Amino acid sequence: MLLLIMKSNPVGRLIGYSNMELNYLHRFGGRLCLLLALVHTLARCIFYIQNGILKRELTENFSVKNGFGILVFLVVLVFGSSFRHLSHEWFIALKLPVTIGFILYTLFFHLPIGIFLTLCLTLSVVILDRIWTRIRNLRDNLPMPLAKIEALQGRATRITISGSQIKRWLPGQHAYITIPSIAPFQAHPFTIATVDEMSFVTLVKSGFTLKLWDTATQNSTVHAIIDGPYGCPPPLSHFGQLILISASTGGSFTIPILLERIQTPGCVEKIRYIWIVKSIECIEWYAYLFGQAMVLSLESGIELEISIYVTRPPKVVEKSSVGSVIDKISTSSEKGAASSAEKAEYLFKNTPSSGRSAMAFPFFCGRPKISTIITDETRDSTVGETAVVVCGGAALSVDVRNCVAELQRNIFLHVEEFA
Ligand SMILES: Cc1cc2nc3c(=O)[nH]c(=O)nc-3n(C[C@H](O)[C@H](O)[C@H](O)COP(=O)(O)OP(=O)(O)OC[C@H]3O[C@@H](n4cnc5c(N)ncnc54)[C@H](O)[C@@H]3O)c2cc1C
Repeated sequence: MLLLIMKSNPVGRLIGYSNMELNYLHRFGGRLCLLLALVHTLARCIFYIQNGILKRELTENFSVKNGFGILVFLVVLVFGSSFRHLSHEWFIALKLPVTIGFILYTLFFHLPIGIFLTLCLTLSVVILDRIWTRIRNLRDNLPMPLAKIEALQGRATRITISGSQIKRWLPGQHAYITIPSIAPFQAHPFTIATVDEMSFVTLVKSGFTLKLWDTATQNSTVHAIIDGPYGCPPPLSHFGQLILISASTGGSFTIPILLERIQTPGCVEKIRYIWIVKSIECIEWYAYLFGQAMVLSLESGIELEISIYVTRPPKVVEKSSVGSVIDKISTSSEKGAASSAEKAEYLFKNTPSSGRSAMAFPFFCGRPKISTIITDETRDSTVGETAVVVCGGAALSVDVRNCVAELQRNIFLHVEEFA
């Protein structure tokens, strides 16, 4: 259980599990421990009742008396994690003392002292992991990198890091960012949205990301501490066809994968890319990367189809600082749009910024019908096995999971979640 919270877990790396995925196992293991502790308590109580010694055991047996205390600690640890989404900082601040309390209480009041050695070994591995992480952070952040923070439309912020010693990462990996001038004791995970420069797109929530956005509205450059990269994105070069689906900042996970596969295709011959966003302004987040992908795909000969779905439809002609919806080019051309009323297709032209080339993208209004898209793309596919990668909210992940399961075909599925 303790080893599963390590940041640089060598076992995770070996079996291709990121620290986030191992964290799921940690949480699941916690619930299992609570269940086993309850079964153990119940079985003991039944045994004592059958033998008429319950009262004596509860009053005189040191270990039995304190067993209930352990149950309380376990309940707090397991159910406390349900409040993680309410306040991450409070959750972290409380989890550490409760865990230490649980370990010490269990050791001194319930379990045989022989377990001490095993516990010490495990704790030393976890402590070594933390020390190694700190040393690596020092090495990677001296001198401290600079973060250029830009406010983007659609309530998002772009962070571009310069001067970092971290030069290599895999597409889809994430890093923890601390900005001392905004929140010195908080480290937030964000996915690296590009392959060549370290850049992140963060959606505004109510804590750190909101303060970041406030700072970004003044277009500032601040010092940042980067801890990473972390995560084990799936190897995809041996598939013939990729279907990459993402929503909102989930694009930070799928776009680097898209760019990498176009540059070094391996067996990949065909890529279908689907991105779902609330409003047309959000296209600004990744517009130049889509442009880059389109140009590179022409050079590499990969068949690439990018479909952008905007769930909040724009007025027919709309102008913004990033570009304009220049035309309504069709009303019923897209397979997989949710309903006929939503099949309008528009063309969006982004305004080039800082030497980046202008690009026009077709986009569709409404939500995509994921099952239709995956079914159509995989039916009679002649390019080899298909891999589906999804990164978005829970609802999108469930949709994709269900669809792939229902198809009962040989499809590889990777689901990435920002939780
Ligand atoms: C592996 C991973 C990659 C991510 N990549 C991106 C990305 O590229 N772009 C993006 O916009 N978001 C990403 N997120 C989500 C992002 O980390 C949170 O939205 C952000 O930390 C919220 O900060 P806040 O203080 O404004 O949140 P709050 O408004 O306080 O809380 C919003 C939610 O974020 C969670 N959260 C808060 N702090 C943390 C933290 N330190 N670590 C983990 N979760 C936290 C809370 O539990 C809550 O569910 C990613 C998350 C993970 C786990």
